Formats: sequence, structure tokens, C-alpha cells
Amino acid sequence: VSAAEPGNDIVFFKRADEKARQLFNIENALNHALEKKQFRLFMQPVVDLDTGAILGAEALIRWEHPRLGLVSPGHFIPMLEHNGGIHDVGAWVLEEAIRGLHQWPDSDGLQIGVNVSRIQLETPDFLDYSAQLMDRANGQAGSLILEMTESMAMRDPEVIISRLRELKTHGHDMAMDDFGTGYSSLAYLKRFPFDYIKIDRAFVRGIPDDVENDLLVQTMRDMTSRLGKRTVAEGVETPEEARRLKQLGFRGVQGYLFDRPMPADDFGELLVKKHEY
Ligand code: C2E
Ligand code: CA
Ligand code: CA
Ligand code: CA
Repeated sequence: VSAAEPGNDIVFFKRADEKARQLFNIENALNHALEKKQFRLFMQPVVDLDTGAILGAEALIRWEHPRLGLVSPGHFIPMLEHNGGIHDVGAWVLEEAIRGLHQWPDSDGLQIGVNVSRIQLETPDFLDYSAQLMDRANGQAGSLILEMTESMAMRDPEVIISRLRELKTHGHDMAMDDFGTGYSSLAYLKRFPFDYIKIDRAFVRGIPDDVENDLLVQTMRDMTSRLGKRTVAEGVETPEEARRLKQLGFRGVQGYLFDRPMPADDFGELLVKKHEY
């Protein structure tokens, strides 16, 4: 479309206007999604590569929009972070995760990973809130894993390190998410009180045939285990990738090869089925 033609200009401005209105409508609907109970918390199992047992799950939010259907978090989390809605929605996510742990059968020892935004972490209330949650998790210390991305942690590492230390006193485990994408140095990795390192899908893809990825995954695995951290490999899609990860000593894995994210009730049923094997 050439902007030199006046007719096209008008079309363009109409479109831009329309787009702005649509965005406004979506944000408006998003701000009422919590009270309208339109959020769903899906669970993606984290599986033990050696035994096939379910070690836990990662909680992944979806928005069930009456017209648009299931909207993925990449489309609305940034909006919630921008307008502050993330505080309430993030609290709902934590509560749903705890509720699951109470409701599912045989959930003893299961760990649920919950994604936490930097904005939540920066709120002083979040510490008190997480302490309360810990009480309600019935002393199942370590039943929640708070996940935060590497790039989020690296933006202000000193601040994040001290926040994480405080959080750990409440008994939660911590995971560094999307490891390998945020350029953290070995020195920082050692200082962050993370229990888990989650290796991003970008590095798992295509191993062992993808020689470069294979080398990177080996190096990350070596480095994290020397630092005494546990690892989870994300986005495992093929048997070849799984076989290679097993060879390299990985235990916790998640990905479409094992399970897609599923409604929390289905996850509860899966736990029962696995138990019956
Ligand atoms: P993430 O934490 O890195 O989550 C993993 C993403 O990879 C999920 O996308 C998951 O559905 C997808 N995935 C899992 N297995 C595979 C696989 O084998 N192949 C491929 N290609 N993808 C796989 P999803 O559910 O769309 O979530 C996207 C991101 O949104 C998450 O990335 C996380 O950063 C954020 N997010 C999700 N739920 C929440 C939440 O409750 N709060 C916050 N703050 N962020 C959330
Ligand atoms: Ca995550
Ligand atoms: Ca991730
Ligand atoms: Ca990611």
C-alpha cells in the first residue's frame, strides 16, 4: 500500500482506528475476565525420564474468551503486566495451583511450577502472600516451584537475588526459566538461589543431530550439575531428543512427546491412571 495515494491513507487510518478499538475492547474484556471466571489453569506434566513417573506439572494459564476461544498467555500476560492486572491474576494462578494439590489424588511429593512475573516479585505484598500460601499448602514444603525467566532475573540481579533469598525462607523452590536465552554469567548462576534450571526448548530442538545444540545442552547440563542445581529440559518433542537427554543424565523433562498442557481435572485423572499401572 502506497501512502502517496490519498485514498489509501484513509483506508490505513480507518484500519489503525479499528485496530486500536479492537485492542481497547480486548483489554476491557481482559480486565473483567477474572470476575467472569474466564481463566483456566492448564497443567503440563513433568515426567521422570527413567521411570516415566509424573514428578509434577507446570501451570500454564489460558483465557477462555467467549468469542475468540482459548487465548494463549503470550497474548495477554504482557497486557496484564502493563496495566497491573497481573497481581490479581497471578494470585489466582497460585491459588488454583494449591487447590489442585489439595484436590488431586496422590499429590504427595508432586511439585507444581508456577510462572511469576517480575512485577509480582517486586511487590512487597508478594512475600507475605506467599508465606500465607505456604501455610495453606499444609507444610508441603517445596510443593510449589516459582519459575522466573533468566532475562527477568538478570535485569537487576542483586535485587532479584535478595528477593529470592527471602522467598526461599518460606519454603518454596525456585526455578530459572528459559535458561540459555538471557546471557547470565556463571558467576551469577552460582549466586542465584535457584533449585532448578529449566533449559529452553530452543536448545533441546534437534539433538543429537543438531551438533551445535547438542554441545550447548551438554555444556549447560555439566555446568548446572556442578553447581548442584537440578535441571528440567523443556519442549521435548521427539524420541531422539528424549533418548539423548537420558544419555546426558537428565531426569525431569516436559514436552509434547509426553503430554500437552491439559485442563487441571484431566491432570488429576492422569495421576489416577498412572497410579494404576
Ligand atoms: P514458558 O514458561 O516457557 O512455558 C512453556 C511454553 O512452552 C508453554 O507455552 C507450553 O505450552 C509450551 N510447550 C510445552 N511443551 C512444548 C513442546 O514440546 N513444544 C513446543 N513448541 N512448545 C511447548 P504457553 O502455555 O503458550 O505459555 C507461554 C508463556 O506464557 C510461558 O512460557 C510463560 O512465560 C507465560 N505464562 C504462562 N502461564 C503464565 C502465568 O500463569 N503467569 C505468568 N506470569 N506467565 C505465564
Ligand atoms: Ca515456565
Ligand atoms: Ca520455559
Ligand atoms: Ca518460554
